[in-house]
Amino acid sequence: VTSGSAVAQSPPGAPHPAGRTLRFLAGLDVSMLKGAGPRRRKALAALGIETVLDLLMHYPFRHHDRTRQAPIAELRPGDEAWVEGVVHDVAVRRTRAGRALVELRVGDHTGSLGVSFFNQPWRERQLPVGTRALWFGRLDVFRGRRRLVNPVVHLGVDDARGLVPVYPASEKAGIESHEIAALVHEALDRARGFVDPLPEALRDRYRLIDRTQAFEGIHRPREREHLAAAKRRLAFDELFRLQLMLVTRRRELEHHAVGIAHPLVAPLDGTSIVERFVQRLGFELTRAQWRAIAEIRADMARPVPMHRLLQGDVGAGKTVVALAAALVAIDGGCQAALMAPTEVLAEQHYLGARELLNGMTVVDSAALGGERPLRVELLTGRVGGKRRARLVAEVAAGAVDLVVGTHALLSEEVRFRSLGLVVVDEQHRFGVNQRAALRARGRTDGAEPDVLVMTATPIPRTAAMVVFGDLDLSVLDELPAGRVRVETRWARCPADEQEAWSRVRSEVAAGRRAYVVCPLVEGSERVAARAVTEERERLAQGPLAGLSLGLLHGRLDPEEKQAAMERFRAGDTPVLVSTTVVEVGVDVPEATVMVVLDAERFGISQLHQLRGRVGRSQLPSWCYLLGQASTPEAARRLEALESTSDGFELAEVDLELRGEGSILGTRQKGRSDLRLATLRRGGARLVAQARRAAEELIGDDLGLERHPLLLDELDLLFGEEARYLFEG
Ligand code: ADP
Ligand code: MG
Repeated sequence: VTSGSAVAQSPPGAPHPAGRTLRFLAGLDVSMLKGAGPRRRKALAALGIETVLDLLMHYPFRHHDRTRQAPIAELRPGDEAWVEGVVHDVAVRRTRAGRALVELRVGDHTGSLGVSFFNQPWRERQLPVGTRALWFGRLDVFRGRRRLVNPVVHLGVDDARGLVPVYPASEKAGIESHEIAALVHEALDRARGFVDPLPEALRDRYRLIDRTQAFEGIHRPREREHLAAAKRRLAFDELFRLQLMLVTRRRELEHHAVGIAHPLVAPLDGTSIVERFVQRLGFELTRAQWRAIAEIRADMARPVPMHRLLQGDVGAGKTVVALAAALVAIDGGCQAALMAPTEVLAEQHYLGARELLNGMTVVDSAALGGERPLRVELLTGRVGGKRRARLVAEVAAGAVDLVVGTHALLSEEVRFRSLGLVVVDEQHRFGVNQRAALRARGRTDGAEPDVLVMTATPIPRTAAMVVFGDLDLSVLDELPAGRVRVETRWARCPADEQEAWSRVRSEVAAGRRAYVVCPLVEGSERVAARAVTEERERLAQGPLAGLSLGLLHGRLDPEEKQAAMERFRAGDTPVLVSTTVVEVGVDVPEATVMVVLDAERFGISQLHQLRGRVGRSQLPSWCYLLGQASTPEAARRLEALESTSDGFELAEVDLELRGEGSILGTRQKGRSDLRLATLRRGGARLVAQARRAAEELIGDDLGLERHPLLLDELDLLFGEEARYLFEG
């Protein structure tokens, strides 16, 4: 793909006949604005604003409605309103804590009120007697006197129209909202219109106003409707750009990569290898599991590499689905690999896979009777010496059907005879390098194996469309029948804690197991290891005296970890005091109690994962979250865990509390981030529209050659990420 050349053809900053492009604005330093002298430039830089584009994309976070302006005499305590008034009097005092307190008296033709600024000493100079300004705040009454505390001040009284934008400003940097507003006005006036990269047909179909109207509407709206339409258009652009990237990436993959069309040896009608496997399981698959398997099979049969994400709550049964996929590959004469994020998990997957696949056979013409037992092997950093060499040779010869391991599976020495499927058990995305590694070492013909990513951290559907928009999605939204709900209590007082410890004792007495998870500690694994060791001492001396307590942390070497897990599983140490290494995947069905210490320090999804370690059988189970909520947000988290065990529901709460950044992670940076768009429940429609629009715009094309303006914008706003994509 050479669409990158379109970027090269339009030199940065070249004027466009139809108006200003974002590229052009990005080439203008803010210093070219008359209002931006050295002091303001410094302040703007502190806000991350260097160019006129940065300035125009510095959106107001709210708009004050001047129609809510009131005469001073009519304000009632508690009212939030604008007043327009002149400074009559200024006094500066110090609070008892030694902080500056600037007190003004402000009046209009109906009366006057006090205005107090705490900790803003510069207000004295900024607002001398006689200054006319707009003041926005909530009226309170202090010692019988009416006043506004730390109100928003807007000095440009005359240019403040109906809706006054309030900009993220920095008092420390020394620039105020109204100064930013003035600079934005100058920029908008001088830009005189923007070229719109969205074809008119798309704008019409999705009822979007044009870009010029949108920038006008966010910065100086004529009325509420204008503002709302502007926000919608700008939010759409943010989502649309992301979707263009994702859709293009998909097209590229599908077009360029050669995949493996796994023959579906038998249909899903009772005789396929998947069904032979399921019949031996001893439980019925859920409808969601069947649906996911059918989706995966269909992908695998196509000659393009599969890129599918399997999302499912803890305990939804992802492993069974992954193994069914592996069997499809193996049945078609390929090998499969399962990669786990840690050695402990790889070992556990290995044991689980061995057990579930025990007795399965594969067709092998060289074998007696044309069949041989299916072979599963473990390959991690722990496997060394001769054994490793032999295993590597057997993998290369195709004698091993399923290889379970860590990322070590992609190392240089490992070569497969015919790798048909890679299952990755973590929210890990296959980068370019891994993809190249798969192609190079998966098969001699260079065909790319199918990839199935499993994640136990559910993310809301709308967010998934953005974060995983280049993957297909299968969701296990149903738990196997008969699962018990883990009774969850936020233990906030000593009596609750007592209950937690006595529950541990009674369950252990009944032959069950309990986890105690230690608080997150800042710092190294070594610090964490020390903390958990001390905690175990404390428990052994105190609340859990007399019980046999095991210990698990990241500093133990793999043999010790394995041994600790074995002693726990076997019940020799029925209580396991641990760091969060038990967070993912550990499967001990007899475990019925989970106690999390200082639970307020953990995030929602982490607690949900931890809780997933219990309730893994028909036995009633409990989860106790110990700790005090230090913030209202911490309280919301703990309450959410108490009230629901639905991982998707919890993910939604997490998104509400922490915002889009929590999901977008490192992608959330600079100009490519979401400033106006939301991935929360309310944003679902716009996200879906942006997706559809991106697909419509790209059509059957491979890239964006036919839309040089959009291509240039992606290049500008996404930088490296886009350049890589479009220049191949
Ligand atoms: P997760 O989605 O958390 O990875 P697992 O695949 O580890 O879940 O499954 C959790 C447990 O439930 C395992 O012991 C597994 O054998 C069992 N399991 C999976 N599917 C079903 C089902 N349909 N009915 C009953 N048990 C199931
Ligand atoms: Mg699992």
